[in-house]
Amino acid sequence: MIMKLSFLGATGTVTGSKYLLETRGKRILIDCGLFQGLKELRLRNWASLPIDPASIDAVLLTHAHLDHSGYLPLLVRNGFAGPVYCTQATADLCSILLPDSGHIHEEDASRANRYGYTKHHPALPLYSEKDAWLALDQFKPLEFSKQYHIDKKIYFRFEPVGHILGASYIRIDDGSLSITFSGDLGRYQDPVMRSPSPLQDTDYLVVESTYGDRLHEANDLQNNLGQIINETSSKGGSVIIPAFAVGRAQAILYHIYKLKERGVIADLPVYLDSPMSIKATDVFCKNHRLHKLNEEEAYKVCNAVKQVSTVEESKRIDHSPYPSIIVSASGMATGGRVLHHLKVFLRDHRNTVLFAGFQANATRGRKMLEGAETIKIHGEHIPVKARIANLEGISAHADYKEVMQWLETMKARPSKVFVTHGEEQAALAMATRLREEFGWDVEVPEYLDSVNL
Ligand SMILES: [Zn+2]
Repeated sequence: MIMKLSFLGATGTVTGSKYLLETRGKRILIDCGLFQGLKELRLRNWASLPIDPASIDAVLLTHAHLDHSGYLPLLVRNGFAGPVYCTQATADLCSILLPDSGHIHEEDASRANRYGYTKHHPALPLYSEKDAWLALDQFKPLEFSKQYHIDKKIYFRFEPVGHILGASYIRIDDGSLSITFSGDLGRYQDPVMRSPSPLQDTDYLVVESTYGDRLHEANDLQNNLGQIINETSSKGGSVIIPAFAVGRAQAILYHIYKLKERGVIADLPVYLDSPMSIKATDVFCKNHRLHKLNEEEAYKVCNAVKQVSTVEESKRIDHSPYPSIIVSASGMATGGRVLHHLKVFLRDHRNTVLFAGFQANATRGRKMLEGAETIKIHGEHIPVKARIANLEGISAHADYKEVMQWLETMKARPSKVFVTHGEEQAALAMATRLREEFGWDVEVPEYLDSVNL
């Protein structure tokens, strides 16, 4: 029996995760993510897949982030009719993220049509909110750490990896071979999320390498955040934090809550301005068993912010003369309400735009951190006068040492390891490290590569 594995994304990039596993006459897609960042990558979202979506038997999702789930509405629209298996929290978060993603695609298309900054007439959305709801109908939430079957021989399980609520690694066994997909690996000693669970023995392994060439600084993240907030507010400025709606936004709220509780920062208004972050924060509170905060603490963190629901409220905070903290999505400033705030707050040197998490190549976030003097938003060039900073250490991703630490929890040696989900340098650095330190057979696959296992 041969397993065939094809890499339909997350090669040379951290986005577009999609792996096709063919075994015993079944086709299983592990993750179904959107490509983000560079135009050359985003165009792949519009190209058809090398296989017919209708021929896929099941999709397994490691977690809800759009670079792992955001292509599903299109897969379903193009004919995939099978089940989407994931954990309950992943399903809950996808029911927030996917419709929002559809909505943003629709808005982008209509804005492009209205202002004419498109070569396509008319510009069409990649998919709509309705497509997202249709895809969600196919979700089948399952439990962590239990065995489930695709057919008599093929079984799989989800094991928690920290990172965000519901995130898991997936181990699939076809009766003769086993293969494990790390998904996005969380961190050891995260203040909010639990540590990744040990890696069970596996013949083949597909492991992420977002930070394959980097270590997170051992710094005092909370106090650094406090210092940036104080430096900004003392000048009369506001702090804008583009944060990933699911995961990082809640971690930021936790740290701000603690800073206020400790008396490190003044009692500035904190706005959570992203309908999606508000819903994700709600899921976070309700699922306190999946993270480290107890029920009371989780609710205190969630209630310490002003939730901004309507567009009118969102505009009003842009014109407040008082310093404030605005947490808004998207985390790499690729879309969402944060763009409207950036259009206003970037122009004033007193403000700070504080990024909190990995900024993919060619995103506005990366460009600002690299010192861009202007940033294009909705076809307009906005001068970057505000201070641009990065909150080191808030990442939800393991660095290479933590990945190695996790790999060492496996008892037997894998037959082969594929390093994916990293920009080229990061993936290559991780591969070299695994070869040199563990003596493993390691490969860094390229886009659309297929291997027989
Ligand atoms: Zn993720």
